[in-house]
Amino acid sequence: MRLALEEARRAGTDVPVGAVVLAPDGTTVLAGGHNEREATGDPTAHAEVLAIRRAAARLGEWRLAGCTLVVTLEPCTMCAGALVQSRVDRVVYGARDEKAGAAGSLWDVVRDRRLNHRPEVIEGVLADECARLLTDFFRDR
Ligand SMILES: [Zn+2]
Repeated sequence: MRLALEEARRAGTDVPVGAVVLAPDGTTVLAGGHNEREATGDPTAHAEVLAIRRAAARLGEWRLAGCTLVVTLEPCTMCAGALVQSRVDRVVYGARDEKAGAAGSLWDVVRDRRLNHRPEVIEGVLADECARLLTDFFRDR
């Protein structure tokens, strides 16, 4: 989560959310990403999507079986869908997103029993620090 927070701090004018994908060994960082919607004009450029794409490119394989995605904010519906599609084993997130979260708050897409892949979810890791980054960002705007 410390590495995901470092990614978030690199978001510049974008909302500070950062993500990293860990290899099946649980320690090797395959890829990272932070929000780049403002920077790239791409509405799908969320931290999780970018990290997933880079990890898959590095592995040369779309399946991220055994991998863990760590993200500072609870994934939205798009990212939750991407996490299911990528077959990651585990999703670890910091702050909850009561307004748009899709991993336990507003929806629970990643653990929906109707889907054929359901990653394990661990929430609340360094939640205060992750949330503070966001509240500071929006207060300064
Ligand atoms: Zn998202």
